[in-house]
Amino acid sequence: GADVLGKWYFHASLAPVCVCDELRQVVDEAGGKTTKHIEFNVKQLPALDWRTADNLEVLPQNPDSEIEWFAQRLGVLDQLDSGLTFVRASSTQKAVKKPFPAPCLVRTALGIYCDLCATPSRAAARRLAALATDPQDRAALEKLLLDRESYQLLSGDKGRLKLRDFFELFLPSAEVDLGAFLQLCPRQKSRAYTIASSSKEDPSKIAICVSLVQEPLMSLKALLGELEGRGHPFPRASSYLKQLDVEADQPRSFRGVCSTMLCTRTTRGEKLWVYSRASSFRLPRRTTTPIIMLGAGTGMAPFRAFVREFKAEKGVRTRTMFFFGCTKRDEDFIYKEELEEALVAQPPALKELVTAFSREQAQKVYVQHRLRERAADVKQAVLDGAYIYDPCRQLVQ
Ligand SMILES: Cc1cc2nc3c(=O)[nH]c(=O)nc-3n(C[C@H](O)[C@H](O)[C@H](O)COP(=O)(O)OP(=O)(O)OC[C@H]3O[C@@H](n4cnc5c(N)ncnc54)[C@H](O)[C@@H]3O)c2cc1C
Repeated sequence: GADVLGKWYFHASLAPVCVCDELRQVVDEAGGKTTKHIEFNVKQLPALDWRTADNLEVLPQNPDSEIEWFAQRLGVLDQLDSGLTFVRASSTQKAVKKPFPAPCLVRTALGIYCDLCATPSRAAARRLAALATDPQDRAALEKLLLDRESYQLLSGDKGRLKLRDFFELFLPSAEVDLGAFLQLCPRQKSRAYTIASSSKEDPSKIAICVSLVQEPLMSLKALLGELEGRGHPFPRASSYLKQLDVEADQPRSFRGVCSTMLCTRTTRGEKLWVYSRASSFRLPRRTTTPIIMLGAGTGMAPFRAFVREFKAEKGVRTRTMFFFGCTKRDEDFIYKEELEEALVAQPPALKELVTAFSREQAQKVYVQHRLRERAADVKQAVLDGAYIYDPCRQLVQ
């Protein structure tokens, strides 16, 4: 693997999913409200070295709809289940540098090694622009690429143009085959998830908790209209919008590729590529050191791991305090039962749980409000050498 992303693929392990459960009390998948607890069985993967609250990097799989669209565009729809490999060009003596593990199936190459969902970076778009054979298309794209701010509209929070739309708008004339595409297409990146389980409790199972990332986007018509207003009319825009029909006017919604895979498609028995990486979430050596944990939503992942570790240590840490925030106790209070059990276990695995339910009253209440209310206890713990953990800032003190 010549590039850094490529190296990840060569070091990752294929781990089977053994648990995949919903964590929210109220689920609305269409509205983006779903959070999954996923466990991987890593017993057969000794190379995967991990500790409590480290990070697990997961390689997303593109949706079938995108894989098939690109396979069709590249003329390999009937070869998705055929093998491919990289061979040395006859003009060179150098060994082949594989950008990803091969031989593999065409479906695998398009499914996990190519980033088919994101807007290409400007550098990647510039390489793709060279493929356009229609001079008008190429000129429009090259002009846009020189205007950083306007390109940012395409790729930014409200735009997020998918690679497929990018091809439809700018590269309908491109003559591109699978080999060229695999070299030019940005590589898929792994996503990090804080491990929510304890290696002391069970080193053969790694758990993560994942929330679906879903955001509203501008309609394609509005997006292209805005770019036209900035002096970027696209030759193919009107015919593409016409082809999309009413869809062109609808506000679009963005779904993150990895969280969508994990929250909406992953099932038990499926195998995913993963890699563990050390984090700075480490418990104090001395069991008498006070521990204060601050977390909201899936930001509680490292603390679920800690609480499992406290349980495995048989409750020897007696000064543990967890400030947890979510919107409503009967909607998105993830790991509720487990935390309540940890409080009443004999001896308790968790000494105190302080909750902040932001939307249960007229005035929003967050973890920081509860922290202020408990300032005296927190101050005393700090004087006693407390470790304070905040997932946004990892170990604070
Ligand atoms: C160290 C670390 C630990 C993490 N731990 C967890 C965890 O325990 N559980 C968990 O659910 N996620 C966790 N994340 C976030 C996770 O890595 C992914 O970023 C997230 O799942 C979105 O990936 P995606 O492929 O679905 O979205 P992508 O396709 O990568 O798109 C993400 C885009 O959506 C935007 N976005 C909007 N809201 C969010 C959001 N809430 N999170 C991320 N991006 C957002 C970003 O601007 C980003 O450009 C962690 C991230 C890091 C760096």
